[in-house]
Amino acid sequence: MEVKTIGILTSGGDSQGMNAAIRAIVRNAVRCGIKVKGIFDGYQGLIDGNFIDLDIGDVSGIIQKGGTMLGTARCVAFKEQAGIQKAADNCRKFGIDGLVVIGGDGSFRGAGDLSRAGIPCVGLPGTIDNDIACTEYTIGFDTAMNVAMEAIDKIRDTITSHHRCAIVEVMGARAGWVALEVGIATGASYIALPENLLPGESPKERYERIKKEIADRLKEGQEKGRKNFTVVVAEAVTSLNKVATVEEMAEEIMDMTGIDTRGTCLGHIQRGGSPTLRDRVAATRMGYHAVQILKEGIGNRVVGEKNGVVYDMDIQEGLSMKKYLPEDLLDIWRKVGY
Ligand code: ADP
Repeated sequence: MEVKTIGILTSGGDSQGMNAAIRAIVRNAVRCGIKVKGIFDGYQGLIDGNFIDLDIGDVSGIIQKGGTMLGTARCVAFKEQAGIQKAADNCRKFGIDGLVVIGGDGSFRGAGDLSRAGIPCVGLPGTIDNDIACTEYTIGFDTAMNVAMEAIDKIRDTITSHHRCAIVEVMGARAGWVALEVGIATGASYIALPENLLPGESPKERYERIKKEIADRLKEGQEKGRKNFTVVVAEAVTSLNKVATVEEMAEEIMDMTGIDTRGTCLGHIQRGGSPTLRDRVAATRMGYHAVQILKEGIGNRVVGEKNGVVYDMDIQEGLSMKKYLPEDLLDIWRKVGY
């Protein structure tokens, strides 16, 4: 099959570097003689036929910008067969022979469905959480971590002046990659990870257990003469499961320890800002690779990075994989992290 036109969409949560990926896809495709259509707001734009033609010049000046020039959305209709069919019909109607989907696991499931409906799709991993199993790296992870690290460095300045404890909530719904690396990079006294859930333990029980572990760690430090502390907590442990806000956690820890403790939720600032070099280069390499596959008419693939090399694999196979936090890093943190 000769591929004349490809589409690009960004879906699910945005991440820094999505624009750099869009740019690489457009430029590689156009230079291969393939036309490109940008699809607005994820799968919703595909269902609505909300497209724009993209040429080399349309993606200039975006490599350094956070967010996504195409917008993104969570589209409930696309989870139904009728929505998938409508999206596939629109692809055929507008001559879209293949599609690059930049997003997370949910977006890849959609890309798998659409591939089965006859439209070859290639997924690119775009999420700050680094929680996609078939790749060692996801676009946005490095920038998000650096944003969080710089914010915690700033909080630490004032914490040190006032001899306080800062409890900082970072993103991480299912995986503690951001929390772990940011915790190490900021010398956190304790890192609360989503993975830290004991068998049979409810989110509330986990919260209470972790709170006690934090209080014990702080008291231990206090007895040794330590006067300021930072604690990094992944959102899964606190606000995401509606167990407590990080501010409430801070107050409870203050009651337990007598240490002046303040809670800060970093929230969406972690999803914004100019992508780091790491994210721009990863996005460019993966975006280039997606076109190399798609121009052969091959779909149902997801692009990933392993040992610094970009590769692709079957979407369903990728979705069935599991990813764990690096044991060595966890161990190193326990020994020298704080
Ligand atoms: P992410 O891609 O970041 O994991 P979501 O899980 O919110 O984000 O998924 C983004 C979009 O992908 C959803 O709004 C929906 O349109 C589509 N999607 C998610 N799960 C499925 C599924 N099981 N089947 C088809 N489409 C899906």
